[in-house]
Amino acid sequence: MKPCDVCGARRAVVFQRHTGRALCLECFREDIVARARREAEKWRMFEPGDVLMLALSGGKDSYVLLDVIGEIAKPSRVLGVSVVEGIPGYNREDDVRRLKAVARERGIDVVVTSIREYVGHSLYEIIVRARRRGLRYSPCTYCGISRRRIINAVARTYGATKVATAHNLDDEAQTAVINFLRGDVAGLVKMHPLHRPRTSDVLPRVKPLRKVYEWETAALAHLKGYPMQETECMFINLQPTLRARVREALYRVEWERPGTLMKLMESLDEALAPLAARGDLEALGRCERCGEPTTPGRRLCKLCEILEEAGISKPIYTLRVASLPRS
Ligand SMILES: [Zn+2]
Ligand SMILES: [Zn+2]
Repeated sequence: MKPCDVCGARRAVVFQRHTGRALCLECFREDIVARARREAEKWRMFEPGDVLMLALSGGKDSYVLLDVIGEIAKPSRVLGVSVVEGIPGYNREDDVRRLKAVARERGIDVVVTSIREYVGHSLYEIIVRARRRGLRYSPCTYCGISRRRIINAVARTYGATKVATAHNLDDEAQTAVINFLRGDVAGLVKMHPLHRPRTSDVLPRVKPLRKVYEWETAALAHLKGYPMQETECMFINLQPTLRARVREALYRVEWERPGTLMKLMESLDEALAPLAARGDLEALGRCERCGEPTTPGRRLCKLCEILEEAGISKPIYTLRVASLPRS
């Protein structure tokens, strides 16, 4: 390959279609770090004294977040959390061990918990029960709602002030389009980096990689030799979710017009900033069962609701708190 378009010295290893540049590994990584840092500064994602909880799945995006976080935020402490879903053949102990080892090299301890530990049933068990009752939600719905709750609970337990997730540009563009298709304007506003939860029980979530393409996190993780999860979730092809269809459509659009997803998110950021900054003053309700915040007027929170439908009316909602070295 030709020399890098930025430094001119090293051999280019990637071609960045949205900028038309060929970059060497060092300049490619620097470009990703700079973009994440710019995004973090623009929306003031981090503040002095923050205790950050990194939500780490063990996929490529997790490794990129671990790789760059030290250069974009200066929190007083960083921890990680990984939630084992409980899907046969997926998220095995080896993946978690590798993730912990890479985090440890960066001085980051990772709390490992599971859906089974928190709810009392693994994701697989929950899905089997739901199917028996004829429910046809996508497995990703159960997984997403449970994981989000558990990550927030772990972050609170360990005194974090913010949760940082590794969502990339493709994830965000897909979610935006799904919200559009559902006519969910509140959902669009909630994605905005200026949006803050209405209760201190839910920690603010920041997404420093939200302007980094998925192929970029994949390429960087690969080029840096990170030990990525090789197994695919068994549910991924079970049922073509709306997200899977949107993902495919957006890939095609981006391929034909490189930079489209970036422009989409940048336009939305500008258009929705005033709404997101204003916030919503309507107070949240409380779940009758577990006491967690829920949408006003609702009896149960989202997690209790989907579990109840699946026949699980007594989730345990507990976390084993492992002692981590302080500081
Ligand atoms: Zn270079
Ligand atoms: Zn609840």
